[in-house]
Amino acid sequence: MTRRPFVCGNWKMHTGSQTAVSLALDVSEGAAAHSAVEVAIAPPFPWLENVARRLRDGPVSVAAQNCHFEEKGAFTGEVSPGMLRDAGCTHVIVGHSERRTLFGEDDSLVSRKVAAVLAASLRPILCVGETLEEREAGSTMDVVGRQVQKGLGKVELVELPLVTIAYEPVWAIGTGRTATPEQAQEVHAAIREIICSLGGEDAGSSMRIQYGGSVKAANARELMSMKDVDGALVGGASLDAFEFTEIIAAAAENA
Ligand code: PEP
Repeated sequence: MTRRPFVCGNWKMHTGSQTAVSLALDVSEGAAAHSAVEVAIAPPFPWLENVARRLRDGPVSVAAQNCHFEEKGAFTGEVSPGMLRDAGCTHVIVGHSERRTLFGEDDSLVSRKVAAVLAASLRPILCVGETLEEREAGSTMDVVGRQVQKGLGKVELVELPLVTIAYEPVWAIGTGRTATPEQAQEVHAAIREIICSLGGEDAGSSMRIQYGGSVKAANARELMSMKDVDGALVGGASLDAFEFTEIIAAAAENA
């Protein structure tokens, strides 16, 4: 089965209102030449609506970096999936390791968020990945397997094709240290096996599994040439339109 590569830029807590728009427009221009690749960007909450308006009808979708699992209520400071949809988002990143480690999100909370995102007709990008200690202890697949199974625990089988998984080894995020293509492939293949066992061959073979962790133009081609690596979730390098476009171009070569 051929899977359309999916590259998403996670801007984290970067950009101002003007730079967000100019970066988004530059990415849109770069992505236009690579229609074989699905492209999204995830700006900070305050810029979502304006960026989505400026990108409307273009090749780049807008994702949020997080959400709450409730639709509305007394949850000061939180943002619901429905609000994100109204703002023009189509995707939400859920369970990013920075949310898990810095904000105490556990698998149970992540699974509620994944379900809420789908209930709002948005598409989750579920992030999973092991820490360095976990890798060195040989428990990578236990950890990643648990995060995948629990994260998808509230997802109906028919909704599985709407989910993207991002494998992001925590030790590779923002560190400049990337998993080797072989390390990424090994975990991606194991994740795909889990999806096959949860939802059947079709669900497993059609699910996009992105790699994330210090992806840049210089290593994207090699990583995305691996059989089960279907794109990238890109942090730092997505803040540079030229570099990000090169990553999109690398994904297009493997489409
Ligand atoms: C990320 O934030 O998901 C990420 C992978 O960051 P970086 O590319 O900077 O490692």
